[in-house]
Amino acid sequence: MPITDHSHAQIAGTGNGAAHEGKVALAQRVIILLDRLGRLTRELQFADGLNPAQWEALRFLAQANKYSRSPTALAHYLGATKGTVSQTLIALESKGLITRCKKTEDRRQVDLCLTEAGQAMLVKDPMQTLEQATLEVADELGIQMVKGLSRLLHDLQTRNQISEFGVCQDCSLFCVNAQQNGADAATGICGNNGEAIETGEKAKICVNYKTAN
Ligand code: SF4
Repeated sequence: MPITDHSHAQIAGTGNGAAHEGKVALAQRVIILLDRLGRLTRELQFADGLNPAQWEALRFLAQANKYSRSPTALAHYLGATKGTVSQTLIALESKGLITRCKKTEDRRQVDLCLTEAGQAMLVKDPMQTLEQATLEVADELGIQMVKGLSRLLHDLQTRNQISEFGVCQDCSLFCVNAQQNGADAATGICGNNGEAIETGEKAKICVNYKTAN
């Protein structure tokens, strides 16, 4: 069914059938808007010699915690195959924007890290255009938008068994173990492996994140 601005009229209809049709029409409108926004934001990210996947990988590595700065976690985050992610990482490495550095706690393992050039590139992130445009809308609808979009994302991730990613403050594993161990709430313990969480890592996104039911 094509979506038009007549959906308001459908929503205003009387009876259960009309109300249901109105809901369906509204849902279809939301889907089309999300799709168009997705296409637009994708187009914006062909900038400064990078493509959307490369920008997203840079953004991810800037935000990811120590358990998540790996090709596998990045593949989960992007919903991409390991092969596709590998191509993205090779391109970023060849441009000098990322590097592989040894983990401090286990020198045999490597982390993906942004180089100084990678951090400088992020200052030019084309998504900032969207951020400026969103500021005005967010002022009016910010909390509802975040709630609605977060719920939609969570539902889709759950249905498709995709890693959610999130930060320690919101993670059910962080809360449970922090209480059980009497750990300092400012740092806390990760329930996934029993390790202490450094303050700087707490606000970073994690591949092992588990939302509270
Ligand atoms: S508490 Fe949760 S989000 Fe934090 S490191 Fe552990 S699994 Fe990841």
